[in-house]
Amino acid sequence: MNNKFKNKNKYQIFISYFKPHMKLFLLDMFCALMISAIDLAFPFVSRWCMYQLLPSGAFKTFFVVMIIFLFVYIFRSICTFVIGYFGHRFGILVETDIRADVFKHIQTLGFDYFDNIRVGQLLSRLTTDLFDITELAHHGPEDLFISLITIIGAIIIMFTIEWRLALVIAIMLPIFLFVVWKFRFEMMETAKKVKKMTAAINADFESNLSGIRTAKAFANENEEYDKFERANLNYKNAKYAHYKAMAKFTSVMEFCLSILSVIVIGVGGTLIMLGKMNVIDLITFSLYITTFVTPVRKLANTAELFSNGLAGLDRFTELMRTESKLVDVKDAKELVNVKGDIHIEDISFSYDNIKNVINNISLDIHQGETLALVGPSGGGKTTLVQLILRFYDTTKGHIYIDNQDIKNVTQESIHKNIGVVQQDVFLFPTTIEENIKYGRLNATHEEVVEAAKMAEIYDDIMHMPNGFDTNVGDRGVLLSGGQKQRISIARIFLKNPPILVLDEATSALDSVTEIKIQKTFERLSKGRTTIIIAHRLSTVRNANRIVVIENGEIKEIGTHNQLMNQDSLYKKLVETQEFITNN
Ligand code: ADP
Ligand code: MG
Repeated sequence: MNNKFKNKNKYQIFISYFKPHMKLFLLDMFCALMISAIDLAFPFVSRWCMYQLLPSGAFKTFFVVMIIFLFVYIFRSICTFVIGYFGHRFGILVETDIRADVFKHIQTLGFDYFDNIRVGQLLSRLTTDLFDITELAHHGPEDLFISLITIIGAIIIMFTIEWRLALVIAIMLPIFLFVVWKFRFEMMETAKKVKKMTAAINADFESNLSGIRTAKAFANENEEYDKFERANLNYKNAKYAHYKAMAKFTSVMEFCLSILSVIVIGVGGTLIMLGKMNVIDLITFSLYITTFVTPVRKLANTAELFSNGLAGLDRFTELMRTESKLVDVKDAKELVNVKGDIHIEDISFSYDNIKNVINNISLDIHQGETLALVGPSGGGKTTLVQLILRFYDTTKGHIYIDNQDIKNVTQESIHKNIGVVQQDVFLFPTTIEENIKYGRLNATHEEVVEAAKMAEIYDDIMHMPNGFDTNVGDRGVLLSGGQKQRISIARIFLKNPPILVLDEATSALDSVTEIKIQKTFERLSKGRTTIIIAHRLSTVRNANRIVVIENGEIKEIGTHNQLMNQDSLYKKLVETQEFITNN
């Protein structure tokens, strides 16, 4: 999929989305062409009637022609309907395809990408960009096509009728178009500013809403309002400027269009008085001037359409060309029947290529072993397990799972074989059942219940209003921290991976809840290679080995007793924590 975006320029990419829906597109274009042709024919046929039929009083032929025109205009309105409906359908089909590609592509991006992007920003950019691209896809060719054909066609026909008058129009029209475009650009700039201000207001609203509890707790509601008021004022001023530009644009355009009629009557009238033109031709010219109204308006809009659409297309192409640094090697194998031996060989890692967060670490973790990682926060413990999960690539050294370099196996199979419980549990805003099932999507209800029992959340769930069908609501507000954590543990029971990572899983909980959950952790880690990162050292006393990590380096390894019998960093940490709890 990525090659599609690498080897083509943005226009080719854009056109490639038309291809699957070519029939609709051609239908759209055909109807656009019909509309132009009818608009061009009407004044011409009217002229013929005035010349040939009216003087001779040919009522019958005249009425036949008029009835034909009635049907022609019914056909024209069908064409308008087709463009309005099927043209937009075409646009939506293109939009759906683009959106699907964007979604799929985003799933392939790695942690490094999301570390550096603000999700809210990405989201709003995607929404507006997609809209702009679709508008361009649908209206761009059609508007340009109809307008140019109508205008150029009309001018050519005018030249065949009275070249002097046609020449005047052919000179004036581009000048008018240029002026109209200029004002339209000004309007576009103000519109951009309004967009920016709207985004700022939304961001303010969002940050206020999510921080409203803090604002209230500090009694800072008034300050929050002051901050917001500024954004609101900016928005108002931007909107004023926009409406001003819009009013200018509209009045200039109206002026240009009406002055065109004045010019036709003025120059045409003079030619008539000089005996070089007749009234019928002047009427015909006037009719053609009326057909200019729509195309000129449309052409004015295309400036914005193209400018926004192409900018959106630029960003879309850029996003699609962004590749995750973490790609599977060509013939990546699946990690299957994992026993759970982890071999870490002299690895280093840096997030920013400046400072190493992991420094020359070597470590063997044996099948079924429970290994604890402890040490001051910021030491690199979480980073180390993220490297084992290959969320990032090491800058030096290798990590092996069951003697397979993790760079040679698929990332999916690594993630399938490691279960992670973190401090922050993310629950999707759906039912409890769905949330537990996330551990294994094809699990049956019985299996979900079983997992809930193992995680000791079953009784809590049964006390909830709708049991397993209870909605957890946005951000899981209805559940306590301990309950959320146990749901995430139930997920892991379902997933049943050979390797388990508990990253400060209980750090946010009170010690009573922690002790309760501890039991389920013991059950969960049975028969699995388990890495526990713990803040409260009392919880890792029983680990097979304890590894102390500081500044990205392993300082000590040993059992609790071994480390306590030395003058170790671990011993100091334990004594400090005991001192704090006892006093
Ligand atoms: P621990 O889990 O031991 O508390 P971490 O592995 O989370 O430590 O962090 C180690 C160091 O890496 C810290 O200095 C932290 O600021 C930095 N760090 C962690 N995550 C990122 C990230 N996504 N981008 C840049 N720096 C990070
Ligand atoms: Mg951490």
